[in-house]
Amino acid sequence: MRRVRERKKGERHIRTCQKNGRDRVSDDIKKSRLAVLSCHLTAGSSVMASEEEKALAAAPSDSPTIFDKIINKEIPATVVYEDDKVLAFRDIAPQAPTHILIIPKNKDGLTGLSKAEERHTEILGHLLYTAKLVAKQEGLEDGFRIVINDGPQGCQSVYHIHVHLLGGRQMNWPPG
Ligand code: AMP
Repeated sequence: MRRVRERKKGERHIRTCQKNGRDRVSDDIKKSRLAVLSCHLTAGSSVMASEEEKALAAAPSDSPTIFDKIINKEIPATVVYEDDKVLAFRDIAPQAPTHILIIPKNKDGLTGLSKAEERHTEILGHLLYTAKLVAKQEGLEDGFRIVINDGPQGCQSVYHIHVHLLGGRQMNWPPG
């Protein structure tokens, strides 16, 4: 019931934006936003309201994201690792005792993994190797999980490729 109410609220929000002429959202983008919204709502976490806002704002795009602000130190983040190519910081809404995001400092068109080209193989490898280094640094000797969400069906909400490093609890399979 609650999910239906939240979804209707999302649809009302989109209609209001269109009416005000502030956001001409195409049908595809509307569908994408609602798909991401439902992904985050099924997570059933207490951050549901803010996740709804984030999900409504998300649409596949090459525009700067909140992660650019973190890279440029315009907003704070708990950075746990940094080198000239990548930055690793704690997720603001952790889904496990350890939840770290690893991102390239230069997005270079990599809004998501589906946009990868051959020239990206080095940075993709570096992101994964950094995940291993950070996992060791965080003491995740018993294991960890790597997640890369892609696109609306993959539940991606920030369009700057990022590796989720999750650990510190027993994971389940299949993932949600
Ligand atoms: P995804 O849904 O795979 O695109 O993941 C985006 C992640 O970014 C989510 O897990 C958010 O909680 C996280 N996130 C969004 N804004 C921030 C922020 N300012 N600092 C840290 N993590 C963030």
